[in-house]
Amino acid sequence: TWVDFISFFNHIIDRFEMTKERHITFKRELPNRAVFIKIDEDKLTQVIDNIISNALKYSPEGGCVTFRVKMLNDQIEVSISDQGLGIPKENLEKVFERFYRVDKARTRRLGGTGLGLAIAKEMIGAHGGDIWARSVEGKGTTILFTLPYDPEQEDDWS
Ligand code: ATP
Ligand code: MG
Repeated sequence: TWVDFISFFNHIIDRFEMTKERHITFKRELPNRAVFIKIDEDKLTQVIDNIISNALKYSPEGGCVTFRVKMLNDQIEVSISDQGLGIPKENLEKVFERFYRVDKARTRRLGGTGLGLAIAKEMIGAHGGDIWARSVEGKGTTILFTLPYDPEQEDDWS
């Protein structure tokens, strides 16, 4: 169905911001207008929930999580950045594989199965988008994904 991605994304962020138990600042850099795209809301909710849960799980106390949506030609680029411990360069692609978890000892403590990002990759792919990670060890991680966007299709709605 057609959804304004910005208000959809804001609602998910709101839900995490209202229930967070640790001192972590949320920062939003989103277009201040509606951006209509065709998505499966339940599936994308699951994807975004996992990325935000990871960002919070691996964030230090007092850290900042930044949410961005960038308009490209025929895509939107969504990113979620944290200031956590980061992911080593050689594992940046592996974290999207099933059951893969960086450093068993450190992640066992924090819980999880290692499926979240594999599911996210499958679902973003099913939407015609891509997902990838950027990270600097010790500084933080950014998870980015794209979704197809048709500016002309959207004009028909207004
Ligand atoms: P699940 O999501 O199934 O509960 P999980 O969070 O461990 O478990 P994924 O979401 O697939 O699994 O993430 C895979 C691994 O990638 C994590 O175990 C962690 O090692 C690493 N990772 C993911 N996001 C981050 C992040 N924001 N910062 C640091 N490491 C991360
Ligand atoms: Mg996860």
